[in-house]
Amino acid sequence: MKITIVYDNEVKKEELRAGWGFSALIEDENLPPLLFDTGADSPTLLHNMKRLNIAPQDIGVIAISHAHGDHTGGLSEILRMNEIAELYLPSSFRRAFPGREVTMVKDPVQIREDLFSTGELEGVEQSLALRTDKGIFVLTGCAHPAMQSILGAAAKFGKLYGIAGGFHGFRSFKAFSDLSLICPCHCTMYKQEIRDLFKAKSLDCGAGLVIEL
Ligand SMILES: [Zn+2]
Ligand SMILES: [Zn+2]
Repeated sequence: MKITIVYDNEVKKEELRAGWGFSALIEDENLPPLLFDTGADSPTLLHNMKRLNIAPQDIGVIAISHAHGDHTGGLSEILRMNEIAELYLPSSFRRAFPGREVTMVKDPVQIREDLFSTGELEGVEQSLALRTDKGIFVLTGCAHPAMQSILGAAAKFGKLYGIAGGFHGFRSFKAFSDLSLICPCHCTMYKQEIRDLFKAKSLDCGAGLVIEL
């Protein structure tokens, strides 16, 4: 499985653009790619997708972590360009998408073979749990629910391996001590502390970063 950070507050590849928001693409053998969140605006998202050779029309699933604009900003434009994508939205998401196959997520759900949603936690946000040979990899949007709830919900799918995404104000770093890979992105307030504490197993996030699992 391969995760590409498409939209982030920082960039890892020169030709890409940064913006306050988050989006990541998940690719797995023989399956159409899944887009997790859509950043804050479509020009930045589409610019980065083009440079990363991601064709919007090929995306098979779009999952939105939560209804904040820095995660939904590119959604309308992607849907205009893509006629096939199924949507997985947290049930607090108040918008209708006529003609689309939409799953309103409340409880944990399997999206496809090795990919699950934690369910909508604390009524606000879903995270993804990716089942890989190394263990479960967690992808968060902003981590508005408590990190302990997110990790606990993801651990129901198997032993946790790593995490990437926005961690917001999370600072009970001990919760990460059993993980093997930590990639603080987007709105994470304590990036430097996390890097200092977990030097050998943390990754610098940014648009263009690829995580192979
Ligand atoms: Zn948010
Ligand atoms: Zn955010």
